[in-house]
This record gives sequence, structure tokens and C-alpha cells, in this order.
Amino acid sequence: MSQPLTLALSKGRIFAETVPLLAQAGIVVREDPETSRKLILETSRADLRIIIVRAADVPTYVQYGAADLGVAGKDVLLEHGSEGLYQPIDLGIARCRMSVAVPKGFEYQNAVRQGARLKVATKYLRTAREHFAAKGVHVDLIKLYGSMELAPLIGLADAIVDLVSSGNTLRANDLVEVEEIMQISSRLIVNQAALKLKQAAISPLLEIFSRAALRLEPAS
Ligand code: ATP
Ligand code: MG
Repeated sequence: MSQPLTLALSKGRIFAETVPLLAQAGIVVREDPETSRKLILETSRADLRIIIVRAADVPTYVQYGAADLGVAGKDVLLEHGSEGLYQPIDLGIARCRMSVAVPKGFEYQNAVRQGARLKVATKYLRTAREHFAAKGVHVDLIKLYGSMELAPLIGLADAIVDLVSSGNTLRANDLVEVEEIMQISSRLIVNQAALKLKQAAISPLLEIFSRAALRLEPAS
């Protein structure tokens, strides 16, 4: 492999769960973004570097070719859209689900059945809009950037659409999950032009990620 490649990752669970996939192919990341303030990280391969960006910005870097590849959650990809992006592999990491949650005691099914207009707070406007439109539920969507759990507690919204994994955050805030919208995991994304122009460099990496992701599949 000769042409240098750039892989965009976000700090936190995506970085933490991508590093072991790379390690299976003997690729070592020399720095930890949690302790280092560096945003460009070298790896044990001179022709592969990692850039650290916000999770929601990963598709943007890859779409414009500033990164050749990236790892992004399905939640982020649905909001961003897939223009200019090729999505070859579901890595099966950072698994969670996108759900509707309401305060304990709020009769969600009744409200929906009676055709009430619901106020829903979320970071995921596009996914939420499509979900409620498909159900024929009228909603006023309120865009938030974080701490969605607070919105129904303080009277900003009746419900939230957010990611849930253990459910601990919901429970801690007296919220209950009333509807699962979809299962979420993180995908490898590739810039469409890079895939053609740097095919010789990118193909082996796709192989590496496919094999590593397969090994992650729970034995059943
Ligand atoms: P920030 O937390 O810095 O505001 P963010 O929420 O976009 O940014 P992360 O919390 O690191 O970033 O989430 C990155 C990705 O990990 C999400 O896009 C999603 O796919 C996945 N994810 C988010 N929350 C969970 C969760 N509770 N369990 C498992 N995966 C999650
Ligand atoms: Mg987060």
C-alpha cells in the first residue's frame, strides 16, 4: 500500500471500539485521544493516519474527501444523508437503539390513539419526522443538541427520541422507553471518489474491517 489514507473517528465509544478492529490487522494507534489533545494521530503504518472529529462531523469529512474513510453511527448517517458516501460494512460496534421515551405515567399509546399533537424533543429531527409521519402521528419537533432526557421533566416536551443502550439514563430520570424506532450500530463509510482513485490502498483496509467485524458477530 503506497497512497496515504486518512480515517475519521470520533472520541469515545467509536474510537474505543474501532481500535481493537485495527489491532486485529496489526495496526496500532500510537496515541489516545482521551489523554492527548492531538487531533491527527499516527498509526504503526506510515500510510494510515487517524483524525479525531465530532461524531456528527464524520460523514462531512468523508463526503468532501478530507478523510478517505470514517466510522459513523447509523443515527448520524440517517441525519446526514449518504451523498458522496459508500457504506460497505456494518461494523457491529457502538450498538444501541433509537427509541421514543416519555415520563413514567404519561399515556403515550392513548395520546397517539386519540390523535393528540405531541411535542417531541430530539437531536434526530429527520429520523423522528419520518417515524411519526409513517405512524400518522402529529408532532411538533424540538431540536436539541444533548441532555434530551431533561426536556420532558421540565415541560419542554411530552416525549423524546434518543439513543438507548442500558436504559440507565432513562431510569435515572424517571423516563420509560415506549417504542423502539430502530437498532443502531456503526458503519464504515468511504469517500466514493477515493474508492476509485485509491482503490489499491483502500481494498485491503476494507478486507481488514470486514474480517474483524465478522469476528465480532456473536456466535449463535
Ligand atoms: P457528544 O456525546 O460528544 O455530544 P455524540 O453523542 O454525537 O457526541 P457519542 O456519544 O460518542 O457522540 O456517540 C457516538 C455514536 O455512538 C452515536 O452516533 C451512536 O451511533 C453511538 N452511541 C451513542 N450513544 C450510545 C449508547 N448509549 N450506546 C451505544 N452506542 C451509542
Ligand atoms: Mg453522546
